[in-house]
Amino acid sequence: KSTTVPKEDVPINNAGEDDEDDVVDLASKSLLNKLIRQSLVESSHRVEVLQKDPSSPLYSVKTFEELRLKQELLKGIYAMGFNRPSKIQEMALPMMLAHPPQNLIAQSQSGTGKTAAFVLAMLSRVNALELFPQCLCLAPTYELALQTGRVVEQMGKFCVDVQVMYAIRGNQIPRGTDISKQIIIGTPGTVLDWCFKRKLIDLTKIRVFVLDEADVMIDTQGFSDQSIRIQRALPSECQMLLFSATFEDSVWQFAERIIPDPNVIKLRKEELTLNNIRQYYVLCEDRKDKYQALCNIYGGITIGQAIIFCQTRRNAKWLTVEMMQDGHEVSLLSGELTVDQRASIIQRFRDGKEKVLITTNVCARGIDVKQVTIVVNFDLPVNQTEEPNYETYLHRIGRTGRFGKKGLAFNMIEVDKLPLLMKIQDHFNSSIKQLDPEDMDEIE
Ligand code: ADP
Repeated sequence: KSTTVPKEDVPINNAGEDDEDDVVDLASKSLLNKLIRQSLVESSHRVEVLQKDPSSPLYSVKTFEELRLKQELLKGIYAMGFNRPSKIQEMALPMMLAHPPQNLIAQSQSGTGKTAAFVLAMLSRVNALELFPQCLCLAPTYELALQTGRVVEQMGKFCVDVQVMYAIRGNQIPRGTDISKQIIIGTPGTVLDWCFKRKLIDLTKIRVFVLDEADVMIDTQGFSDQSIRIQRALPSECQMLLFSATFEDSVWQFAERIIPDPNVIKLRKEELTLNNIRQYYVLCEDRKDKYQALCNIYGGITIGQAIIFCQTRRNAKWLTVEMMQDGHEVSLLSGELTVDQRASIIQRFRDGKEKVLITTNVCARGIDVKQVTIVVNFDLPVNQTEEPNYETYLHRIGRTGRFGKKGLAFNMIEVDKLPLLMKIQDHFNSSIKQLDPEDMDEIE
């Protein structure tokens, strides 16, 4: 399924004027995730491992020392503040660092430590004294390549002779240049160009090949084929590693095509649940009425921070202006912003600089602001067919069971939208109570 065109150098923001759902492409979503990430994402599930040779012993590590890394690399890891391997790293690192090298396909949600793991593998296999490309990492966009490169630079801070180079469009390399950098990170199109047309990289000398963000990669037209052409030219002893945050069939098929004899590691995602959320709805006449109800709620209960979801950009803007005029400190997160701008708004909100964040669907996912006590659906999430969008509802309001503090959710409903709400209630088999906005005592 190829849905988007290659956009290596196109700035990723949705600058369109459309006032509908803010649709964010996978690559920007992934980048935003990286920019706003502060720590490891945990999962209460066990890591599932499928070994290519089931009879070989399965090692896992609880410390970085056990991996017998070069001192300068270990120093880099500790300097990043890592104390012990993440859940996925416990299993993945021994496999990735094994002799002889083993191939690996690994899937776990973003934030679980995949990038750190393969960066560590690249840095540990690189020979700093040999001045030619030895590790090759493919990423879906320029920005994502840079993010990975930053991790290489941080973790490799004490590996002074190891250097990174970016094979991305716009990085002009004169013909006949001898590339002396050991680690190349780039997008498939440009890497292909550097390898075959311009002969800047000798693929037969690559020891570690990483394909990162495979799910984003196959979403971009041409990237699967280009990646496979690159992979075909690698020597058989080259270690091949593939990472993905999700694992639909299409990703799996691609992974199996491109990674020979792989070990497979999977870490299931923590499920979202509505169990520890108290859900209410308020019947309203129109937008103004909704706003009045919102103010009543806001005045009636003590709120830490709130996220308010609107269905359209226009509504979100209108609400932001109304609230500002009434003296609230609010910020607006919507789809016409660049990824960097979005990241900084989310960061400000996290730091408590604003109490209220108004947004469209653009950030329904991936935002995990622990201090948020209430979520308001100023509009219910609906599909193009005006059916409720259950998944979005769950993502806006749900929390992971394990970390879930109790939360409050309010739905502002025009009378004609009530059937939609009832469908949502039935779908999740959870109760959404009606609330009289004049009487907040109902919320204990
Ligand atoms: P992924 O590639 O799965 O999205 P990352 O490797 O980017 O995950 O890691 C997510 C975050 O956790 C990053 O901020 C990273 O610096 C941090 N991190 C990774 N591994 C560890 C670890 N072992 N201990 C502490 N923090 C870690």
